[in-house]
Amino acid sequence: MKKIIVAGAGHAGLAAAAKLAENGFDVTVIEKNSRSAMGHDWEDRFDFSLLSEITGKDTAGFPAGSWRYRGDCAFLSPAKRKKIEIFYDETTRQKVMWRKPLLDMLIENAEEKGAKILFDTEILSPVCEETGVKGVATALGEFTGDIVIDSAGAFSPVKKNLPDSFGIDKEIKRGDLFYGWRAYFNKLTPEMPKTPFEVYLYHEGEQGLSWCCTNENTVDILIGRIDKFGQEKIDEQLAIFRKDHPWIGDEIINGGQYGIIPVRKPLTLMVANGYAAAGDSAFMTMPMNGMGIDLSLNAGRILAETLIKNAGTGYTAEVLWEYNKRFHIEYGAFASKNEGLKNALLSIPSQGVDFLFENDVIQSSDLSGAGKNMNFKVLMGKFARGMKNPKYFFAIVNGLIKGGAASSLYAKPPVNFDRAEIDKWSKAIESKRIEIL
Ligand SMILES: Cc1cc2nc3c(=O)[nH]c(=O)nc-3n(C[C@H](O)[C@H](O)[C@H](O)COP(=O)(O)OP(=O)(O)OC[C@H]3O[C@@H](n4cnc5c(N)ncnc54)[C@H](O)[C@@H]3O)c2cc1C
Repeated sequence: MKKIIVAGAGHAGLAAAAKLAENGFDVTVIEKNSRSAMGHDWEDRFDFSLLSEITGKDTAGFPAGSWRYRGDCAFLSPAKRKKIEIFYDETTRQKVMWRKPLLDMLIENAEEKGAKILFDTEILSPVCEETGVKGVATALGEFTGDIVIDSAGAFSPVKKNLPDSFGIDKEIKRGDLFYGWRAYFNKLTPEMPKTPFEVYLYHEGEQGLSWCCTNENTVDILIGRIDKFGQEKIDEQLAIFRKDHPWIGDEIINGGQYGIIPVRKPLTLMVANGYAAAGDSAFMTMPMNGMGIDLSLNAGRILAETLIKNAGTGYTAEVLWEYNKRFHIEYGAFASKNEGLKNALLSIPSQGVDFLFENDVIQSSDLSGAGKNMNFKVLMGKFARGMKNPKYFFAIVNGLIKGGAASSLYAKPPVNFDRAEIDKWSKAIESKRIEIL
């Protein structure tokens, strides 16, 4: 029986653990947090269908009060002169779920299917042989197995301490991470704006995004930047929010913590002998909005399928490349596409973003449907309006072109695990990156 070590009880690891345990594998998940500390104290948006598939429960079977539909949305330009409103219908309305019950469902499901989960056990590093990984080191000693599934997040101590010779990229550049602080405040009056979920791009002229979401009984505030910030910035931004939203109280009902989200294209190479990264450890989020739950669950699913299919062999990099390739073809190509636009937007000054909003170069269809309504007439209209300021317009066009080129490359990974070919492919993808200054 193959022995699987899952580093971190993240979404990817728990999805893989459940599927593998169900198929008779010996699975141990090692998690640094205690059971009660699992999950942050706020709601996340994702598509619930994969969670339903994994746990066998539809929304009626989710814990009571764990999810809801979110209100209509408005995007505000940096100078707040332009507001793009998006009204959803029953088919497009966004659903959000509290993180703790989401993780409870994944943990219970993995345990029911036979995975062992060791909480309160911090992983310190991988245990490596010359050519691969054979386990992880913790304060309780070493845990070894046929493969380590690295689901320990963006700062995974497993990935960070892999030998450079494995070729897995460990660099994090400026703009690859989004630093957020989020809290739900009490609500002083029954005020309910027409578009309760307001998203501020380049908030207060700074590189990042914030939101103010007025709920029935609370106001959910997110302050987000691409650089770290402290309490002074939070106090300053809350004071600004309260001027426009006098119904925001002082009492924090939920949250009140920082979180860090990777917002870059996924790792190109994410496997080695006895090792596979999945989820944030491989930067599997949508660069534009940091959504990573569905990508992580899907990565866990694909990885488990690969391990089950190849149970009769050793888990070499050659075998695991099948997972690596499948993830990029099915999801990586799509996820990487909007890094170009995101980095391009963050590379121009806030006045540039105002120009693009105010001249309808960025429209509601771009923000709600990822350019679904792009036909020749729409594009020509954007071109005519955008050319009023070619510098900003071409910066965005460049972002779209480079994002598209990176996406095409992700969709065609080398057929076999050939390090020279993989390095060439990775370099070609990296050359499409737009640096953020
Ligand atoms: C503030 C915030 C808001 C977000 N909002 C959304 C959203 O609305 N929608 C969405 O789709 N995504 C959202 N994301 C992104 C999403 O949370 C991640 O993409 C997703 O959780 C990645 O899952 P994962 O499998 O990589 O594991 P993670 O959720 O990253 O979990 C990693 C696990 O590893 C454990 N771990 C870490 N180090 C060690 C160690 N040394 N030893 C043992 N265990 C360790 C951690 O405690 C944790 O349990 C948000 C992220 C943050 C931070």
